[in-house]
Amino acid sequence: MKKTTTLVLLIATSFLLSACEKKSAEEVNLYSARKEALMAPLLEAFTAETGISVNIISGKADALLTRIESEGINSPADVLLTTDAGRLHRAKSAGIFSTLNSSLLSSTIPSQYRDSDDQWVGLSLRARPIMLTPASTQMEITRYQDLVDPSLEGQICVRSSGNIYNQSLIAASIEALGEAETENWAKGLVANFARKPQGGDRDQIRAAAAGQCSIVIANTYYLANMLADKDKTDDFQAASKMTVVWPNQEDRGTHVNVSGAGILKTAKNSANALKLIEFLASDTAQKMYAELNYEFPVKDGIELHPILKSWGEFKADSVELSKLGENNAAAVQLMDRAGWK
Ligand code: FE
Repeated sequence: MKKTTTLVLLIATSFLLSACEKKSAEEVNLYSARKEALMAPLLEAFTAETGISVNIISGKADALLTRIESEGINSPADVLLTTDAGRLHRAKSAGIFSTLNSSLLSSTIPSQYRDSDDQWVGLSLRARPIMLTPASTQMEITRYQDLVDPSLEGQICVRSSGNIYNQSLIAASIEALGEAETENWAKGLVANFARKPQGGDRDQIRAAAAGQCSIVIANTYYLANMLADKDKTDDFQAASKMTVVWPNQEDRGTHVNVSGAGILKTAKNSANALKLIEFLASDTAQKMYAELNYEFPVKDGIELHPILKSWGEFKADSVELSKLGENNAAAVQLMDRAGWK
């Protein structure tokens, strides 16, 4: 009798031990350029569905890449989640990513939002359209090219050329129009600046609302966040003055970019890392992930937030976002030549 009890106890103990070992092994380490509080509900949903716990380290996008590079093979990171195809390309060029082998990702995420070598995948979409105040010119603006019209002198607010979003906008233009035409455009744009570039995208919208300019180029989620922010009355009022113009609807479409992720080649939990990225590409997660920061899903057919819906449908530039990274250096040099500070 005593022998049987001991045996049962031994079996129970070893079962518990293996369960514990299994549980501690089921994790994934995420380096995220998106705030932890924003990501929490999404990551909780992932853990609830898969049993895999997520350890998150949040930081600024460029600092996270530097950190991964300095940690080298000892980096605990399995996944890098960051914004802008230009930054994802920098991470790829730094040689930190492995190839994403996932038929699920390649069949569900449109190819223009995935790296050409499958080193990263886009998970949310943001557009960089033109925004106008009622004080803007009576001239009809329908294309990015329209912004160089001499009648718009002193009317345009946009942030500095050091910002990756503007670099990617120029990189996309290089792909569509070539360097010479893009450089002419950039020079014409600079000639119409209302002021020396300063601040972030929100600051351009604030400046326009304050009458410093009447035309802004900014990412959609900044405007949406300001519109959604019921406590910050000034920002809400400023954003409410803006009308979104989707440029180039008759030709290449409006410039878009992504936030996205890749798996590190040094990942210790690469299978779980892939499960996390595949989860973020699922319909349920796409809706949640887009709404975290008022972005668009990368997949069609997902319900949009009402603020985004209010701007109407638009045609996005279909350029492969890999090209934005490839053209980044040329874009930076071009903006410098154009005098874009
Ligand atoms: Fe941003």
